Amino acid sequence: MASYLFTGGRVLERNAEGLLDGVDVLIEDNRIKEVSDTPIKSTTAERIDLKGKTLMPGLIDAHVHVVASMVDLSQNAALPSSLAALRAARIMNGMLMRGFTTVRDVAGADLGLKRAVEEGLIEGPRLVICGKALGQTGGHTDFRGRSDDRGAFEGRLGALGRICDGVSSVRRAAREEIKAGAEFIKIMANGGVASPNDPIHALGYSRDEIKAIVEEAANAGTYVSAHLYTDEAIRRAVECGVHSLEHCNLIKQETAGLAVEAGAVACPTLVAYEGLALEGAAFGLGPESIAKIETVRRGGMESLDIMRKAGLPMAFGTDLLGQLHKFQSMEFEIRARVLPISEILVSATRISAQLCRMDGEIGVITAGAFADLLVVDGDPTKDLRVLQDEGRHLAAIIKDGRFYKNALM
Ligand code: ZN
Ligand code: ZN
Repeated sequence: MASYLFTGGRVLERNAEGLLDGVDVLIEDNRIKEVSDTPIKSTTAERIDLKGKTLMPGLIDAHVHVVASMVDLSQNAALPSSLAALRAARIMNGMLMRGFTTVRDVAGADLGLKRAVEEGLIEGPRLVICGKALGQTGGHTDFRGRSDDRGAFEGRLGALGRICDGVSSVRRAAREEIKAGAEFIKIMANGGVASPNDPIHALGYSRDEIKAIVEEAANAGTYVSAHLYTDEAIRRAVECGVHSLEHCNLIKQETAGLAVEAGAVACPTLVAYEGLALEGAAFGLGPESIAKIETVRRGGMESLDIMRKAGLPMAFGTDLLGQLHKFQSMEFEIRARVLPISEILVSATRISAQLCRMDGEIGVITAGAFADLLVVDGDPTKDLRVLQDEGRHLAAIIKDGRFYKNALM
């Protein structure tokens, strides 16, 4: 049984508004055993003097696609599943080494990848999965060209979504994903950037279909997450009972208020558009997709302010594809142009934990929570750049009580 006592550091305060001196943290096995502002005594734990460094909860990215090893999602869907899995392992390792100890995969990852992490076959973050996203014919999971009437690559791990139409088919699809281990259900309820035939303004699914999927998720004790950009699509999703509102770039004030009343959570993913604009074309994003980026990129920055004013909780998401995963931590810097640092840190910990349905278990330093911790060289409440640069300022990365990086000695 591994046990460590962290002492001599400064611990991130619950609301990320500052650092607390003189707090000891004891971890035992994979859990935090004790947090105390008086010295903790332990005869068995290995004592680690943090020498003034910051101890904070592991980060949580609530919008990733670990099987997206290519920007061109159509080609990604055609990859052999074994290759897609091995590439996913490398992508997941990159996330862990940037300090993300949990990620919510919102289309693509399956139970095999989740179990591979749990069994220690992959050194990656905890994985919360939804299996394949549900999308309609011609929607955001349909990567076939206009005159391409082949079946979609649904059986492949590299396919982020599946195509299903009609109330009975979407119910069945939702039930199949839940049976296969989905912890929530993802739907494509609006047009998207990385798919060829659906303009941003297009609505995905009828109200009846969305309500049916929401009912199936609720029957299984979970929620629906929807891919959404336009105000109209977001409002409709909220009215139909969708809980996790992805992207939300073009949301307006009134809809943000309705989302608050409904208890929904938004998950902006601004770095996705920065990344695609910077290097998307070089990695195979088609011209019809490039043209769509600007629409959502411009709205994205304004949306943060609108959602903040409304009091809509925001999780932390990135939504990067393929070679663009290296930009994951840039989401901090983009949000900091608009939001207070403390709120960004709470997004990347406690609020994202809610969408993982692991409230109180991850994203917090409290007795009983999983021992997912970062030791940061610097004060993230003053400067978020200490969480960037591919994890360079992280002196230690601990997940489930185990060190994945340790530069403390
Ligand atoms: Zn999306
Ligand atoms: Zn996405």
